[in-house]
Amino acid sequence: GFDTAEDAVLMMEVEEEATYIPQHKIRLAFFFSAMRHFAGDLKDRGYTVYYVKLDDPNHRGSFEAEITRWAHKTRPQRLICVRPGDFRVLESVQAAVKSLNCELVVKTDRHFMSTVADFEAFAENRKSLLLETFYRKMRRDHDILMKGTDPEGGKWNFDKDNRGGFGKKGPPKIKPPRSFQPDRTTRDVIKLIKREFPDSPGRLDDFDYPATHEQALEALRDFVKYRLAHFGTYQDAMAADHPYLYHSRLSCVLNLHLLDPRKVIDKTVQAYRNKNAPLNSVEGFVRQVLGWREFVRGVYWARMPEYAEMNALQADLPMPSFMWTAETPMNCIQICIRQLIDHAYAHHIQRLMVMGLFALILGVRPYDVHRWHLSMYVDAVDWVSLPNVLGMSQYGDGGIIGTKPYCATGSYVNRMSDYCADCSYNPKESIGENACPFTTLYWDFLARNHNRLKKNPRMGLQFRNLDRKSDTDRNKIRRKADRLKSDFTRKTYL
Ligand code: FAD
Ligand code: SF4
Repeated sequence: GFDTAEDAVLMMEVEEEATYIPQHKIRLAFFFSAMRHFAGDLKDRGYTVYYVKLDDPNHRGSFEAEITRWAHKTRPQRLICVRPGDFRVLESVQAAVKSLNCELVVKTDRHFMSTVADFEAFAENRKSLLLETFYRKMRRDHDILMKGTDPEGGKWNFDKDNRGGFGKKGPPKIKPPRSFQPDRTTRDVIKLIKREFPDSPGRLDDFDYPATHEQALEALRDFVKYRLAHFGTYQDAMAADHPYLYHSRLSCVLNLHLLDPRKVIDKTVQAYRNKNAPLNSVEGFVRQVLGWREFVRGVYWARMPEYAEMNALQADLPMPSFMWTAETPMNCIQICIRQLIDHAYAHHIQRLMVMGLFALILGVRPYDVHRWHLSMYVDAVDWVSLPNVLGMSQYGDGGIIGTKPYCATGSYVNRMSDYCADCSYNPKESIGENACPFTTLYWDFLARNHNRLKKNPRMGLQFRNLDRKSDTDRNKIRRKADRLKSDFTRKTYL
């Protein structure tokens, strides 16, 4: 409905958004570069664009103040925005407009395949919200990977085929995601970020993310051609020096609306139809984009703002400072955090079963883990980070997103990666000098949450194994875990 003769677009690089939590330099550069490219594109297409750069001397520094300034200047009849990705931002836009004499229209975000109202209808009168039920409904509603009313291949889920590891030999040569050298616009942004946010986390030297729709399309084509076929089989594997393996690195362009999820799904399903990728990979990928991505967004808008306060396990420690710096002898954490510092990226299992697992069993406040996540990842936005971090990985929501806490010993990390081979700790040991902190903290986590979790039917085996431990061992574990907790949280960054 945009009328180029009458309407204008307002875009701003807001300091408050860049500093309310210290943010990775790559994340800031990615957002501002994509915004500047998009504004240029709109101008070329004849739109009037008011674009406020971060260092504009007239900039008032927040959404609220800038919207007010521009409203006084341009006297609009209506302000129209797409539903933001953050409850806080929606509130601040609403607050700004309240004091102005004009109407606010919040449009549906068409970069999702379900709407907030669709999800509310799905959630209504359901005791629990299961991804699987929602995912099957989305497959049917959008006719994706269906054969009439049945799922393609006769099964909804090929997870059993998707647990491959690389063994002793490690991964083969895998083509990394397509790299995009910064153009002049991106280089200007990089200079700005280095100047204005020297103390923000992360490095900017190897910035190579796509910053336009065309580049995002190229990144998608590259994934479908070179990595999709093995995505499914190795989606849970981890390997040192291989940050991306067969993953797509498309979350950031999807979340910033440089790429439409329908396009991403079409291209991957087409690869299956053309026999260029097997069903376990394509279904596994579709499940992430059509299932999980839409599901967590639905939960976010259905449960905010109370969701952010949830802390079912009453975890209350701060996030250790080495989660920003990688200064720890735990090899798995060191590798993942170094990767974050360099690329602002980690794949799903590194997030869930290394860094998230560590914070969970240590007992970090779930909202603090989310704040750390927002500060370190290129793809983190409140709607997606909060349910994944506070819900899925920290079990802060008490089981809305996942049915049990994702807790495990160092042996899981050992099975799914090559990290433990070069570590000074032993993943099998929970007490003694070489005990792996993950293994000690795992048993301590079970013991201290016994009353809260004992009724969860999916935790039975884990508690039976805990019961087999002698009182002496349990005491030693508790004392060692207490020491680790106090050593690890002595220094924090946020
Ligand atoms: P791939 O492995 O190639 O997966 C394909 C796509 O599926 C992703 O690009 C993403 O768009 C989507 N996807 C997969 N899983 C999820 C999920 N659980 N929720 C939403 N989308 C999903 N994803 C984010 O986009 N932003 C976040 O802030 C974020 N935080 C997370 C925090 C934790 C603790 C965990 C366990 C997961 C989080 N995820 C988040 C989901 C997932 O880990 C990332 O989307 C994925 O690792 C991004 O890399 P990729 O593009 O290479 O993904
Ligand atoms: Fe991580 Fe423990 Fe393995 Fe070391 S031994 S890499 S700390 S899981």
